[in-house]
Amino acid sequence: MAAIRTTCAYCGVGCGIAAEVSGGDDRGVVITGDRAHPANRGRLCSKGTHLGETVGLEGRLLAPMIGEREASWDETLDLVAGRMRECIAEHGPDSVALYLSGQLLTEDYYAANKLAKGFVGTGNVDTNSRLCMASAVAAYNRAFGEDVVPCSYEDLDAVDLVLLVGSNTAWCHPVVWQRLEKTRERRGTKIVVIDPRRTETAEQADLHVAVAPDGDIALFNALLAEMRRRGLVDEEYLAAHVEEDAGFWDSLTHQPGIPDNTFAKLCDLVARHPRMITLFSQGANQSVCGTDKGNAITNFHLATGRINRIGAGPFSITGQPNAMGGREVGGLANMLACHLGFSEEERADVAAFWNASNICAGPGLKAVELFRAVHEGKIKFLWIMATNPAVSLPDSGFVREALSRCPTVVVSDIIADTDTGRFAHVRLPAHGWGEKDGTVTNSERRISRQRALFPAPGETRADWKIVADVAARMGWGDGFAWNSAADVFREYAQMTALAKARGKVLDLTAHAAISASEYEALEPFQWGGERPLSRGYPTASGKARLVSVLPHAPVASAEFPLRLNTARYRDQWHTMTRTGLSPTLSQHRPEPLLEIHPADAEALGLVDGSLGRVETESGAAVYRVLVSDGQRRGEICVPMHWSDTMAGQGRSNRLRSQAVDPVSGQPGFKNGAARVGPV
Ligand code: SF4
Repeated sequence: MAAIRTTCAYCGVGCGIAAEVSGGDDRGVVITGDRAHPANRGRLCSKGTHLGETVGLEGRLLAPMIGEREASWDETLDLVAGRMRECIAEHGPDSVALYLSGQLLTEDYYAANKLAKGFVGTGNVDTNSRLCMASAVAAYNRAFGEDVVPCSYEDLDAVDLVLLVGSNTAWCHPVVWQRLEKTRERRGTKIVVIDPRRTETAEQADLHVAVAPDGDIALFNALLAEMRRRGLVDEEYLAAHVEEDAGFWDSLTHQPGIPDNTFAKLCDLVARHPRMITLFSQGANQSVCGTDKGNAITNFHLATGRINRIGAGPFSITGQPNAMGGREVGGLANMLACHLGFSEEERADVAAFWNASNICAGPGLKAVELFRAVHEGKIKFLWIMATNPAVSLPDSGFVREALSRCPTVVVSDIIADTDTGRFAHVRLPAHGWGEKDGTVTNSERRISRQRALFPAPGETRADWKIVADVAARMGWGDGFAWNSAADVFREYAQMTALAKARGKVLDLTAHAAISASEYEALEPFQWGGERPLSRGYPTASGKARLVSVLPHAPVASAEFPLRLNTARYRDQWHTMTRTGLSPTLSQHRPEPLLEIHPADAEALGLVDGSLGRVETESGAAVYRVLVSDGQRRGEICVPMHWSDTMAGQGRSNRLRSQAVDPVSGQPGFKNGAARVGPV
């Protein structure tokens, strides 16, 4: 049987998969890497390789549920639409909110965004991608005028120096790491890891810069100042393509915050290698100053002209399989649709395109503030799709309280029992990976098909279809009269003409008349091309911007003296609702560990293998202790994955505060305040 070509369910690398389905009811499937996919050329990591172990139907939500009672789709959809209608009538459109996910396909995202922003009339559409890369989006917007990743994976094949900032690439984006290793073998590429922790990636680097938590801004500012002192600023590029905040150069006065000899080594590597990429990820983004970090990195590349050239640029790698697709269609509260904002003209364009009856007036609430509004009783109808905020949002005790107060919580999911689902009044059974049919976009803006491998089980439906069914019951059926994912994609591609007309890079108009068979056969393609900003920047002046950014120092606390970091394990994904099903993946790290420096462990009476209790202002959790000199003194690290639906300890979701980046709204998961003691 011919393999079905699809895309991995997990991270933003977006690896192509060749899936050989054995047929029958057992949903057997053999997974290999798709050699023809440009993102991975046949490579896969452990999570992708073992996807076949996670597609069984055990624990699946297979029928609509009203409370604990199975119900028909008709009854359930009537109830959802009825509650939404009542809510809008009594409390206005902004009493409704949708909370989406980077696990959704682009078509699902498009449908949900259109429903809320065009017809309900609220901007309250946000996504768990807010927790992942919203700061990178904000930084790109400030620097380039549009959310455009300026690099491609091809650049990783031609690079001489890679700075990995806040990225344990070997664990979290393993196929990118494998690609870098190949380049290193071939070209002698140097790899620098800038991370407070000596991770598995740092251990394999040419240089590990153990920067303080949130020390990246001072470091990049100092690095740029030093390059300027050495005459390595690209004055010609600056004059032609870049403008700057007033006083920008005078603001680069910071000490790098690392030992002098390490800074000297870093500067020498950077000076010698103009073909340089800075790959940045959650360690940079998940910070109360994540946007400024993104701009510190982008400033460096703009000022040295290390951008829009082969093997050069500031490259944000996304966490989720389709965080990028959500960014494109507008599934963020601070964007209307298709890279368009909320000006009167843009709203009019979008309203006309959608023939929308009630286009929203302006931006909605971002994830953390959205759940605050739920807690305050301002949002009375909350529809959560394909995500588990009771675990993944910071301060989960507060989030659970908010969910318990909300008059209507609708959850679309594939899993019957999730921490969030326990608060749902209505649960809607959605297609999972292997049943989904649509598109995703990876970190390099490459759109690939996810194709169905199995018939949809039970009563499950595509997320875009569920949205369309609710819209029809609201009386808005004409705007949602799609018969297939191809219909939705075609409409989205047509809509990008609005962005194109405003000089945006996002442009899928070449696919505006795509047929169903062309969609079925769609090969992976990259919007914007390999270096999308080489033709100029999508700003009014056509120039990029150097943004002045200042270091951020957390306030020290006597009560909570340690800095708390959170991290991902190599073989687990998010809240483990899928990877937790794989026996193979669970072998790597079967339990959550508290990593702590030997001197701190000794001072606190903790030994390797004992139990330690971590406390913050938000909550407490217990972990097995791993004493490690890979941690800096005064800093601890715990994994993000474990939750209440799993027996045992290590529920890190309880620990994290609601502090967010003021520009992007992304939570500061990587640098909280905590204390630790023995159990
Ligand atoms: Fe899947 Fe990411 Fe692994 Fe590729 S690197 S196989 S996309 S989890």
